[in-house]
Amino acid sequence: MAMLDAATARSVFVAGLRDAHAVENQALALIDRQLDRLENYPEVADMLRAHRIETEGQITRLEEILTGLDESHSGLKDLGLTISGNMAALAHSVAPDEIIKNSFANHAFEHFEIAAYTGLIALADGGGFGKATPLLQQTLGEEQRMAQLVLDSIPMITTKYVELRAAGEQASR
Ligand code: MG
Ligand code: FE
Repeated sequence: MAMLDAATARSVFVAGLRDAHAVENQALALIDRQLDRLENYPEVADMLRAHRIETEGQITRLEEILTGLDESHSGLKDLGLTISGNMAALAHSVAPDEIIKNSFANHAFEHFEIAAYTGLIALADGGGFGKATPLLQQTLGEEQRMAQLVLDSIPMITTKYVELRAAGEQASR
């Protein structure tokens, strides 16, 4: 990659790290919202709980990177509400097939994160912040694995949804 202007690269990198921090806090809120409501899909609850733990680690990594750049990360938690607002709205919809719509939203959300970390890694590599690269790669790998798990769960979820509905049981969540 060509050498990037150092001050500009730093500014874009720091803004991207802060945005990612906000996105991860949004992720925690989306996961918690779903865990609160889930009743009949324990496999989904397990998957979300495991990724919640990963997400907390991702937030710690971002804070570590920002601290290493002498950038504070206090007060970052409130910035995130609009960033993934559309996906959040989707996940907040209470539909009869809530579990299915949330799965689609979760898949989209993971891919938003994959895109964000791919950009951050390019900035870390091209802007001289190579110390951050392994931390960002670690998070990227987690998002890629979660995206695949969400996708792989969709046939099971849709099938089970039909079975529960046909049996007159709680199918939506
Ligand atoms: Mg994440
Ligand atoms: Fe994620």
